[in-house]
Amino acid sequence: MGVITCAFCKGTGKDPFNLLSELATCQVCGGTGKVEIIEPAIKCAYCKGSGVYPHNGRITCTVCNGKGSVTVKGATDECPKCKGTGRAIESGLPCIKCRGKGVVVKKKSE
Ligand SMILES: [Zn+2]
Ligand SMILES: [Zn+2]
Ligand SMILES: [Zn+2]
Repeated sequence: MGVITCAFCKGTGKDPFNLLSELATCQVCGGTGKVEIIEPAIKCAYCKGSGVYPHNGRITCTVCNGKGSVTVKGATDECPKCKGTGRAIESGLPCIKCRGKGVVVKKKSE
């Protein structure tokens, strides 16, 4: 388990879009500016590490839940379906194969 800077509020602890009020706390980190993540983790491909959902720049990324990083277990390859972008080409939604991470876990070689 590691602690990283909250991507959604960039460590400020405040809601970056002031949706409720200027003093609203960040919904991702609860105002601490830090989030816990299970390691090993990589930058979220879908939001490019911003923590913000690309289609609607006011809500958290559904792939990393606003943390900007996603957990990957084991060795990975670039996702062949979305070519590492994390986005389905047709819809722009998170890639079904890699779930928006942009990478897939390598199959064990026999
Ligand atoms: Zn935050
Ligand atoms: Zn993300
Ligand atoms: Zn993919």
